Amino acid sequence: MIEKNQFRGHEQLAYFNDEETGLKAFIAVHNTTLGPGAGGCRMWPYECEMDALNDALRLSRGMSYKNAMAGLPLGGGKAVIIANSKTDKSEELFKAFGRCVQKMGGKYITAEDVGMTTEDMMVIASETDYIAGLPHGDHASGDPSPFTARGVYNGIRAAVKYKLGKDSLEGLTVAVQGVGHVGLFLCELLHNDGAKIIVSDIVQEHLDEAVEKYGVTVVAPDEILSVECDVLSPCALGAVLNDDTIPNLKTTIVAGGANNQLANDSHGVRLMDRGVLYAPDYVINAGGIINVSGETSGNYDLDSINEKVDNIYDTLIHIFERSDEEKRPTNVVADEMAEEIIAKAKAKK
Ligand code: NAD
Repeated sequence: MIEKNQFRGHEQLAYFNDEETGLKAFIAVHNTTLGPGAGGCRMWPYECEMDALNDALRLSRGMSYKNAMAGLPLGGGKAVIIANSKTDKSEELFKAFGRCVQKMGGKYITAEDVGMTTEDMMVIASETDYIAGLPHGDHASGDPSPFTARGVYNGIRAAVKYKLGKDSLEGLTVAVQGVGHVGLFLCELLHNDGAKIIVSDIVQEHLDEAVEKYGVTVVAPDEILSVECDVLSPCALGAVLNDDTIPNLKTTIVAGGANNQLANDSHGVRLMDRGVLYAPDYVINAGGIINVSGETSGNYDLDSINEKVDNIYDTLIHIFERSDEEKRPTNVVADEMAEEIIAKAKAKK
């Protein structure tokens, strides 16, 4: 297991099994050079523990890179709870998870991710000091999703400027996969900018809300990755850019909020070869963690947070330029830039 590629460079991995509450969770800490390993907690009904473990390892490494590229004093960590968020939630389970986070002794700071809500985080907070993204309390930063959406919107603008030479999204077609927390806020920003929006989701109420508020066009879940558009914005789950989907893309830009969009790193090359500009996921979706970092700093300041979220535009332009100069895919360039930031900080220490 530890010879697996995904484990490369991780500092710590913990498995928690609480028979009383049924909690099964992994907490992975990738790197703490820049600060404590910070990253959300995902609740998902994984088919087996290996799938959950792989997700924790991949996502925690992504958090190290994301926090480094966002210029935050945080390392990378992630937790996954193996459970169904629709049927398995209970106060006891979340309290047990809070105690697990506390046992990590501050090496890991948890926050909200897929399947979790800010209310769930409040229950977890009753058992641990190492938590952020709370809806109320001292310096609470609340729901990170609007900030993530703002970052994704900035990233889409950067990609459109770089690839299509346009300053506005007016009249461009953006296809959004998943109109949950991030996707719906993104639709609002795209709508205000005059973009035509195509969406898909697997939950009818989410689609109804997007149609009602922003007049979006709906397509079936198996159509969204191959619709003709200027920008494809994956905002649901990971691994959507793979051997099956890449040949069918009818876009020249992929820029979305989902984590781990590439099934594996080689798919970055496939996208480059097809002339598709890919905005690396952990760079474009850093808005949420930037917001949460305001809380961990103990001095939440909305203006400085928005400024950092808006910097995602420039960071992506740097990545696109270096990718073109070096003729290497954007995901590889971003990883290297993140590793350079961490190595520099380590050398300084
Ligand atoms: P969410 O659960 O609120 O929304 C996801 C949406 O995708 C839901 O509406 C769901 O029904 C839909 N969906 C699931 N499978 C689908 C499919 N096959 N086709 C179409 N739609 C599908 O989650 P979220 O908070 O909006 O996060 C979305 C993605 O962004 C995740 O990958 C998450 O890790 C990432 N992300 C979120 C944040 C944040 O601030 N919430 C921050 C960084 C990254």
